[in-house]
Amino acid sequence: MRAAIEAFDEGADVALLSKIHPVRSHSGAAEGGINAALGNASEDSPEEHAYDTVKGSDYLGDQDAITILCDEAPADVHQLERWGAVFSRTPEGKIAQRPFGAAGAPRTAYAADITGHVLIQVLYEQVMRRDLRVYEEYFAWQLVVDDDRCQGVIAWDLLNGGLKTIGAKTVILATGGAGRLYAGTTNAYACTGDGMAMAFQVGVALEDMEMMQFHPTTLAPTGVLITEGCRGEGAYLLNSENDRFLERYAPNAMELASRDVISRAEQTEIDEGRGVDGNVLLDLRHLGAEKILERLPGTRELAMVFAGIDPIHEPIPVRPGAHYHMGGVDTDVWGRTSLEGLYAAGECACVSVHGANRLGGNALMETITFGKRSGKHAAEWALTNTTIEVPSSVESDAERRLKELLDRTEGERPWSIRNELAETMHVNFGVFRREDQMKRQGDIVAGLRERYERVVVDDKGEIFNNDLTQALELGFLLDLADGMIVAGVARKESRGAHARPDDYPERDDEQFLKHTIVRLDEDGRTRLEWRPVTMTKWEPKERTY
Ligand SMILES: Cc1cc2nc3c(=O)[nH]c(=O)nc-3n(C[C@H](O)[C@H](O)[C@H](O)COP(=O)(O)OP(=O)(O)OC[C@H]3O[C@@H](n4cnc5c(N)ncnc54)[C@H](O)[C@@H]3O)c2cc1C
Repeated sequence: MRAAIEAFDEGADVALLSKIHPVRSHSGAAEGGINAALGNASEDSPEEHAYDTVKGSDYLGDQDAITILCDEAPADVHQLERWGAVFSRTPEGKIAQRPFGAAGAPRTAYAADITGHVLIQVLYEQVMRRDLRVYEEYFAWQLVVDDDRCQGVIAWDLLNGGLKTIGAKTVILATGGAGRLYAGTTNAYACTGDGMAMAFQVGVALEDMEMMQFHPTTLAPTGVLITEGCRGEGAYLLNSENDRFLERYAPNAMELASRDVISRAEQTEIDEGRGVDGNVLLDLRHLGAEKILERLPGTRELAMVFAGIDPIHEPIPVRPGAHYHMGGVDTDVWGRTSLEGLYAAGECACVSVHGANRLGGNALMETITFGKRSGKHAAEWALTNTTIEVPSSVESDAERRLKELLDRTEGERPWSIRNELAETMHVNFGVFRREDQMKRQGDIVAGLRERYERVVVDDKGEIFNNDLTQALELGFLLDLADGMIVAGVARKESRGAHARPDDYPERDDEQFLKHTIVRLDEDGRTRLEWRPVTMTKWEPKERTY
């Protein structure tokens, strides 16, 4: 939505396409907040924000992109405020900011613990105000590529059925993450990596796909997120011995160390038998009822509804869950991909500002700042280039492929493949990675892809055919899993979210201070390349918290 608004304001003719109603996008679930060095809670600067982000990324983030994010963030947040975002306030009436993991200053602007919900409503209002054309409940399935340019998308019309081709001089993918690759995830059902997979299918490169972030506090048993804002407000993490175990892993930052560090600490406690039914405990009780009710009301509600626990009186059982994809469609700092006319922004893109580990609060900021930038660039390109013409063969090819799938009456239903994928990814490509497990997972995914070739869609109807779209989403997930494993096996070191405790426990800057790039070659195989990290002024150092 931020990209569409910017492109429209630049004078372009814009349409927005979404497989769900835009305000139901996963962004609306973001709780904790959005990072910008406003300096309202203590002294702060974009430079410090950038340093924290570089360090948080385990030095894999591109420093030019990080500098842009941190420099533009304050003005971008003020713009959201002017558009009507109701941020929480300091007593003097400024935008309030809370401490978040691995940040040198309280930098996370928030609206209680419903920040994403507030921002998404504000953006949708701005979309409405401009009377932008919105194709709601259109499922984008394929990119139209002709003449070495991206010229639109082919989408399934969920409400009425049928494939529709939407021609466009430029396309911006903003399709979000792929947490649904994992059995335990904070991500919504819609987060199936569609945009990444669509780009991959047409030969566009994906970057750092092995970097899947595990969030340390996801609620047992559902995987619903318990915001880092809890720890920002002072909550403790305890093991079965009532011990604040982070003293042994991150003695300075404790509960506010970065996410990869805490997830590994938790998993180690659980694996070594100091967990509580496969969890550790997040204790808010000492914060007191008043603070919990004022600052974290949504968290209390989630814990009560989904775990039957009132955090005013009891600690919340939590464990690491798949949360955020640092990797994604390889773009430059204007959101451009290697394919002319195709852009990507938000979680589906890899600019890369998060490198091997994202800091909480930086993802919402990325969607805004790089959404804006890609909207601007895409509009400029569209306004200065010739019209498009989608060849009819592209449409008929898509129709034929879809018909093949829908005509099949015998075979396996998608859900069993999907469950197996999610469960095995969790075990074999989770918080800790081991060579034999990753390779086994590669074989498992290859087997699942074969089975997917014979998948059957039971529902043959036109209206709201979820059976069909879930089958298509499964195809996307399988493509991505393959690329993640190829990249993961090749990265023979431990960096950020990619932790190999047995064979390569250390970071190896000499050999691996570089991005993995995967793309599909002519004969349908995943090819791996490497690209140097863009460094400006921060030399890699040992990362401790
Ligand atoms: C529970 C949770 C809490 C979080 N909290 C925070 C936080 O406090 N701070 C922070 O910075 N980050 C947070 N994050 C991360 C952050 O919210 C996300 O990375 C970010 O919101 C993703 O935004 P997006 O616009 O890229 O994607 P999304 O918000 O997921 O939107 C994707 C859009 O693409 C559409 N789409 C997808 N596929 C298709 C298709 N095939 N056809 C048509 N449309 C399609 C969807 O309909 C949707 O509208 C959180 C994430 C989660 C899961």
